[in-house]
Amino acid sequence: MHRPECAFTNALTIDVEDYFQVSAFAPHINRSDWNGFECRVEKNVNTILEMLSKHGVKATFFTLGWIAERYPEMVREIVRNGHELASHGYGHERANTQTELAFFTDVQLAKMVLEDLSGIEVKGYRAPSFSIGSVNLWAFEALASAGYQYSSSVYPIKHDHYGMPESPRFAYEACPGVMEIPMTTCRVLNRNLPSGGGGYFRFFPYAFSQWMIRHVNAHEGESSVFYFHPWEIDVDQPRVEGLSRKTRFRHYVNIEQMKNRLNQLLIDFKWDRMDKVFANRLKVYDTPN
Ligand SMILES: [Zn+2]
Repeated sequence: MHRPECAFTNALTIDVEDYFQVSAFAPHINRSDWNGFECRVEKNVNTILEMLSKHGVKATFFTLGWIAERYPEMVREIVRNGHELASHGYGHERANTQTELAFFTDVQLAKMVLEDLSGIEVKGYRAPSFSIGSVNLWAFEALASAGYQYSSSVYPIKHDHYGMPESPRFAYEACPGVMEIPMTTCRVLNRNLPSGGGGYFRFFPYAFSQWMIRHVNAHEGESSVFYFHPWEIDVDQPRVEGLSRKTRFRHYVNIEQMKNRLNQLLIDFKWDRMDKVFANRLKVYDTPN
């Protein structure tokens, strides 16, 4: 397998949710109707596990409690394959539309569900739609109270649904006991460009995404954090009706190229789980046994 010389190991992450749960669809799909949709997440996660195994890569799976309860074998299979199991909350409510108590209840429940099903400690959390920002920094205290050690919930960019462009761009202690590891951006012409995956990765030409990750590694001396969703490799997912043009474009753009691009990304860079890539920063929170 060809893998260029590179001093940096980057963090590969997957937000485990299904296509009907994405925040941009919330105005079109009631949460109470979720049970009526065909779930495709298990099949897609199995495909991802095969891809990662083929490339010898370990990753972090930020998994929804709602999904984990319905697919406990999938959760255990993620762990059996040597990947890190982390939390994406329970019900995919944006952190910035919840009260502090509701947020705490959601993240605590997700941690309990994931730990009960897997038998291992869950240390990491990612907020739905990167919904921790300047208006709800209390969320970090709630994560500390729930027993999380790190969060990867801030995207330091300007975006109409999320983002905190003024946030530090690389890992920092967000509150005592919790490290925030933001999604990676590339600083070009005084702007933070999103280089951490998702819709941008499908939209930009592959070579540009590749250049941004290399730039962060080589010129800033930092590991990149990259994310995608299981539904992004699923070209046959049922199409949701009634979406605005913008939402439809963002969800489906270049989805047919995603598997090939991911395979190339797995070849071009070194990847590992979040807790391994950032082990030195996180070890201050480990309690001796
Ligand atoms: Zn999500």
